[in-house]
Amino acid sequence: MERREFLKKTGIAAAAAVAGTALSAPAVLANKTYNWKMVTTWPPNLPVLQTGAERFAKRVEEVSEGRMKIQVFAAGELVPALGVFDAVSQGTVECGSGAAYYWAGKVPAAQWFSSVPFGLNAQGINAWFYGGGGLELWEEVYAPFNVIPRPQGNTGVQMGGWFRKKMETIEDFKGLKMRIPGLGGKVIAKAGGTVVLLAGGEIFTSLERGVIDATEWVGPMHDLRMGFYKAAQYYYYPGWHEPGTCLEVIFNKNAYESLPKDLQLIIDSVAMETNLWSLSQFEAGNGEALQELITKHKVELVSFPEPLMDELRKMSMETLEEEADKDAASRKVHEAFKKFKERVGVWGSVSENAYYDVIADKYSLKG
Ligand code: CA
Repeated sequence: MERREFLKKTGIAAAAAVAGTALSAPAVLANKTYNWKMVTTWPPNLPVLQTGAERFAKRVEEVSEGRMKIQVFAAGELVPALGVFDAVSQGTVECGSGAAYYWAGKVPAAQWFSSVPFGLNAQGINAWFYGGGGLELWEEVYAPFNVIPRPQGNTGVQMGGWFRKKMETIEDFKGLKMRIPGLGGKVIAKAGGTVVLLAGGEIFTSLERGVIDATEWVGPMHDLRMGFYKAAQYYYYPGWHEPGTCLEVIFNKNAYESLPKDLQLIIDSVAMETNLWSLSQFEAGNGEALQELITKHKVELVSFPEPLMDELRKMSMETLEEEADKDAASRKVHEAFKKFKERVGVWGSVSENAYYDVIADKYSLKG
């Protein structure tokens, strides 16, 4: 051991001495090119999600002036969608892109960093990450897996979903077959619904044939692309189950730490920039697609009745408490999230919420 340590130290000293003859150590690092691989949980070409991951890679290469190149692989191209976290954790690849709730089976506490039913919206979760200690907590949760997380995008408030029948009371969920993943699915199951798991490519046909009665997906921009308006009549809002789903970029810790400081800052900054870019794309694209759904495809927009929402909210709180009981990390994250949400919620009710109320033109929704 001692001999090996000695050889290692002298080896480093020798390399530094050689480097020192021509270039200083930082200059050697500054000239080094890093070629990384990124795997994602998204299908090829999926707008804003996969294209956002590709944009991240492109921007890193531009900002680093070619010192860092990241080759991006969509789901299944190198590893399956749900193998992304393990691939990054084990160092098979240097980085990945996805959403934290996909890792709920392995890391229950991860769920709070993507989307929580009746939880924080995009503005709220970004405030938690960048201004309320949320990112530090997220780093703590991923640390045992040798993974470093950064927010890399946000869908904004999603839609409640496409239903083949009207939802009047909570009773209407009894026996309802719905495609809805994650914590939202657990709430629907609590309400008596049957949660059906389907791959993206199977949803439309299942809905059209009545194999399922309802599905949620993302928001108008992605829902329009899936053609759900041809298979279900009622388009419900709001997406109480995903009020601001955060997308992530994750780095293998060793790979991240092997980078010179300026490249670490570049990938962090580009992740933050992509986060803003993504939310902006969703907001702009959803606004446009919603108009098309209403005016061109005559989709009927319906809001969930308030008493039904109250029931879902109550069941969501119960579900979150049950999830928080799974391990110490989940409890810690849940309590921190809850506390932060209460604070920004009170502020939001006299700021964003109150402002939306005075500018809302509710009748324009009818098209
Ligand atoms: Ca969704």
